[in-house]
Amino acid sequence: MNDAVREVGVAVVGAGQAGLSAGYFLRRSGFAPDTGFVVFDHSPGPGGAWQYRWPSLTYGKAHRVHELPGMPLGDADPDRPSAEVVGDYFARYEREFDLRVRRPVDVAAVREGDGGRLRIETGAGTWSARALINATGTWDRPFMPYYPGQETFLGRQLHTAGYRGAADFAGLHVIVVGGGTSAVQLLMELAEVARTTWVTRRPPVFRSEPFTEDWGREAVAMVERRVRQGLPPQSVVSVTGLAATGAVRQAVDRGILRRQEMFDRITPHGVAWSDGRSLDADVILWATGFRAALDHLAPLRLREPGGGIAVEGTRVVKDPRVHLVGYGPSASTIGANRAGRTAVRDIRTLLAEQDQATEAAPARPLEGVR
Ligand SMILES: Cc1cc2nc3c(=O)[nH]c(=O)nc-3n(C[C@H](O)[C@H](O)[C@H](O)COP(=O)(O)OP(=O)(O)OC[C@H]3O[C@@H](n4cnc5c(N)ncnc54)[C@H](O)[C@@H]3O)c2cc1C
Repeated sequence: MNDAVREVGVAVVGAGQAGLSAGYFLRRSGFAPDTGFVVFDHSPGPGGAWQYRWPSLTYGKAHRVHELPGMPLGDADPDRPSAEVVGDYFARYEREFDLRVRRPVDVAAVREGDGGRLRIETGAGTWSARALINATGTWDRPFMPYYPGQETFLGRQLHTAGYRGAADFAGLHVIVVGGGTSAVQLLMELAEVARTTWVTRRPPVFRSEPFTEDWGREAVAMVERRVRQGLPPQSVVSVTGLAATGAVRQAVDRGILRRQEMFDRITPHGVAWSDGRSLDADVILWATGFRAALDHLAPLRLREPGGGIAVEGTRVVKDPRVHLVGYGPSASTIGANRAGRTAVRDIRTLLAEQDQATEAAPARPLEGVR
C-alpha cells in the first residue's frame, strides 16, 4: 500500500446523481480529472443508490428521474428496472465526461489536514484536498425506529433497503410500517400476493392536485429553512404529502391503503397496541426511511446542537471548504443537479480567494485547472 498522501484540488465523495453533477460542473469549470478533482464511490458499479433499488421498482414506477446536466437519458423502457436504466445512463455519463470515478473506494474519514487542507482517508490511500463535495446520499443509513419487544419477534423483519420483490412474501401476512411513498408502493405490490396491514405514526395525507412547480419550491424552501438552522432534514413526504395517482386511488378503493395507527410493542408473533388489540404477522417491513450517510465527516465536528449540519446553499456554515450536495433541500434528482452547480461555483470562488491571498493567483489560478 502506498503511504504517500496524494494532493488534489477538490474531492467528491459519492457518485450518485449529486456527485456526478458536481463532477460535470468541475469538469466544465476546467478542473482536470485526477489532479484537479477526484471522485470516490464505494459501490461496485455506476448508478449511485439506484443500483440497489428492488427490481420491481421499474423506471415507469419511479417518481421522476431528472436527467443529469449536459446529457439526455434518452428513451427508456418503462418496464425495465430503474436500477438498470439509471445504472446504464450513469455509466455512459461517466465515460462521456471522463469523470474517472474511483470504485469501489470507501471514504472512511475526513479530518483536518496540513496547511488548511482536508485529509481524506480512503480504502485506496490518503488524499489531501483543498475542498470537499460530499454526495453520499442516504442509502447506506436505513433508519429503523425501536419498539419494545422488537428483538423477540420470531418472524422476519426487514427494511425497504433489503426488499427484493413481492414474491418473497407470497401467502404471508406482512405489516408495513411507514407513511412514505415507498410504503405505499410496496403495499400495492405485496397486496397482490400477500395479506397486508399498514401502520403509520401519523394519518397519511394524499394529495390529488398536481404537483406544481410552486408547490415543489415551497417544499424545498421548508426543508432549506430547517437545514439552515442546523436541524436534521425532515422526510420529503412530511413536506409534500403522498401523490394520489390513479393506481393509488384504485388501491385506496380496494382497501389496500387503509391505515392503522402505530402499534405500541412487538410480540414474538406480531404486534400489539396498548388498548389490548394485537395482530399476528409473519413479516414486519420497515419502510421508515433513511438518514444522511455522514459518519465519515464526524472528525470535522460539523454538527450543530440541533443535531443537523447547518448549510447555506450547499456550503457547510462551520467549514466553507465542505459542501453537502443531495442533502436536505437538494435530496432529489433535480435538487442534486442544481446543488452540484452551486457547490462548484462556490468552491471556485473560495479557491480563487485563497490563491489571491497567498499571491499564487497569477501563476496558478486554480490548482488542477487546465
Ligand atoms: C426508493 C427510493 C426511490 C426514489 N425515487 C426517486 C425518484 O423517482 N425521483 C427522485 O428525484 N428522487 C427519488 N429518490 C430520492 C433519490 O434517492 C435522490 O433523488 C437521488 O437519486 C440521490 O442521489 P445522491 O447522489 O444524493 O445519492 P445516492 O444515489 O445515494 O449516491 C450516493 C453514493 O455515495 C456512495 N457513498 C456513500 N457513502 C460513501 C463513502 N463513505 N465513501 C464512498 N462512497 C460513498 C454510495 O455508494 C452511492 O453510490 C428515491 C429514493 C428512494 C430511497
